[in-house]
Amino acid sequence: MIYITEGHILIILYDDIVTMSAQFDAISNAYEGVIYKRVGHNIPRNKLEPNNWLYDMLTLRKYNNITYIIATLSHDTQALAHEKCHARYHNDKQYRQQCNKLYDSLSPNSMKRVHASLKHMGYNETVHIDEFQAYYYTESPRSLALLFGKLQFIN
Ligand SMILES: [Zn+2]
Repeated sequence: MIYITEGHILIILYDDIVTMSAQFDAISNAYEGVIYKRVGHNIPRNKLEPNNWLYDMLTLRKYNNITYIIATLSHDTQALAHEKCHARYHNDKQYRQQCNKLYDSLSPNSMKRVHASLKHMGYNETVHIDEFQAYYYTESPRSLALLFGKLQFIN
């Protein structure tokens, strides 16, 4: 595995999903819910519980400026783009406001479908807007429609 820092983000790239899942599933399950076939992980540093390996590693390696951690398989550029959206949503207030506005402008029916799909996928409600934007900005129109149906926006 390799560690890369990009500004305040720590990116951990794995060669195999078994190792990644062993290290990250418990952390991600607690933060965003239990997701079937997860291919990436994202967590704000301030949501990490003390006494896990990631919390200790950040301290030990003196990653003092890191505010967000993401992990994907090293070849998975799609997952990496998705997880980077989460980091940006957390770290960039202007981007977050833009995403919240986009979510708020979904038609009531579309919002209901987005909400139901994310819930069905296993995401905690606390991360629904964050997940919506990450899928919205990284999926093709076709796969977005498969995930959420055809999205409609008001105004
Ligand atoms: Zn996500």
